[in-house]
Amino acid sequence: MAAIEIRNAVKIYQDQQRKRDLLALDTVNLTVEKNDFLCLLGPSGCGKSTLLNMIAGFESVSSGEILVDGKPVTGPGADRGMVFQQPTLMPWLTVWENIAFHLKLRGVHKAARREEAQLYIDMVGLTGFENHYPNELSGGMASRVGIARALLLNPAVILMDEPFAALDAQTRMDMQEELVAIWQKHQGTVVFVTHSVEEALVLGTKIAVMSCRPGRLGELIPLDLPYP
Ligand code: ADP
Ligand code: ADP
Repeated sequence: MAAIEIRNAVKIYQDQQRKRDLLALDTVNLTVEKNDFLCLLGPSGCGKSTLLNMIAGFESVSSGEILVDGKPVTGPGADRGMVFQQPTLMPWLTVWENIAFHLKLRGVHKAARREEAQLYIDMVGLTGFENHYPNELSGGMASRVGIARALLLNPAVILMDEPFAALDAQTRMDMQEELVAIWQKHQGTVVFVTHSVEEALVLGTKIAVMSCRPGRLGELIPLDLPYP
């Protein structure tokens, strides 16, 4: 079974100012297989975030359907981990407390939370920073916390919306390499939104290119095929 199945998904927004409908996504079909690292590539405004937010369950689908692990998406759920551009860390919690926050909500005992968090802290390269607070972290480190927090719940799919876009160029390249290394250890299904061709080529096992007005999806480009 595919990790994500998008069938004839259409998204129409109500444009309040111009008092008319905006067709943001026109009949998108996409299959994301398990362990694909799919980069959703396209220029700004073509509907990448809209599509990701529909998979996340933050936005409704105007028509069509989206299945995650065979189950229709009806709203947000723990089977989909999100990594945002701004990792929205809680400033009063340390690195490990931020990463393990959802386990606390689930009533997991502190020692078990600490142990579980450590696995992901080590995986994303934050060893030694467990007890730091968010205001003591660089942008790249905050980004690692966001990734660790999403991985910890072991979701069926991870959805990333330009997570490195706010970083400086050098840190962005470092984090791209870091993410590739994490993925070699962790595996799992990822949909990664980017407007950067370079980023998509570094990270993706497949690239889906979006075109604009309205947003449409071209053919999937598998990157493991040799060029003719
Ligand atoms: P991208 O992520 O590729 O930059 P978006 O998904 O953010 O594109 O936006 C796609 C289109 O939908 C744009 O024309 C944008 O203005 C419009 N749009 C996005 N969100 C809303 C919204 N909440 N209400 C109305 N229009 C929106
Ligand atoms: P236990 O799970 O052992 O019952 P608590 O949940 O009461 O422990 O938290 C013990 C201490 O951990 C608190 O005094 C608090 O300062 C700190 N703490 C706060 N938030 C978190 C968090 N999200 N995860 C882990 N520890 C936290």
